[in-house]
Formats: sequence, structure tokens, C-alpha cells
Amino acid sequence: MPRHYITPNLPPLCWGYQAITLFPLGIFYRSEEVRDDQTTGKHELIHWEQQKEMLCLLFYLWYLVEYLIKLIRFMNHQKAYRGIGFEQEAKKYERDPDYLSTRKPFHWIRLVLR
Ligand SMILES: [Zn+2]
Repeated sequence: MPRHYITPNLPPLCWGYQAITLFPLGIFYRSEEVRDDQTTGKHELIHWEQQKEMLCLLFYLWYLVEYLIKLIRFMNHQKAYRGIGFEQEAKKYERDPDYLSTRKPFHWIRLVLR
């Protein structure tokens, strides 16, 4: 299980975001309220599993490449970001309390190909 940190000053790459998962370090939240939010917590735990199965560095590489491909396709940051397979999986299942115990590895790949 990841460690959870409250860091009001998240790195510059995270402007606008309330939390970031950095495997194997832990999950960083802007505030205690964000940390205690079940949906955000579940969303970040899904990213934790994705990063673990992608050996961390491959996660960031894939994330960036897919973001750039979708940015070119949509010409819109929000659409590109939301279109990333990792984000689609986390968003789709962040409210499902049983998802992490039933999740199949690399499930996000199915969402990339849509
Ligand atoms: Zn996310």
C-alpha cells in the first residue's frame, strides 16, 4: 500500500490537480480534505496499480506519448488528458468500492484503443 502525504505545494507539473501518485514514493494530496475524499483516494489508488504494473517509468512514457497523440487529435488539453487510457480507467472506476479487488491487470489498454 502507498504512503499518503499532505503537500500543499505540489510540483509545478500538477497545477490545477488535487493529488498526484508517484510510485514508489506515495500519493501526494493538496490538503487533508482531498486525502479524505473517497473518490479521489480511489482514483489515485488505481493510478498506483497502473504505475506498479508499468514499472513506473513506462507509465510516464506511455502517459506522455498518449497525451501528445490525443492532443494532436483533439487540439484540446482537457480532452487529451481525459482521453488517456490510464485516466479513463481511474475516472470510470473511482466510485466503485470493489474495483481494486476485482481489477484485471492492464485493463486500461482496452480504453486506449477506443
Ligand atoms: Zn488521474
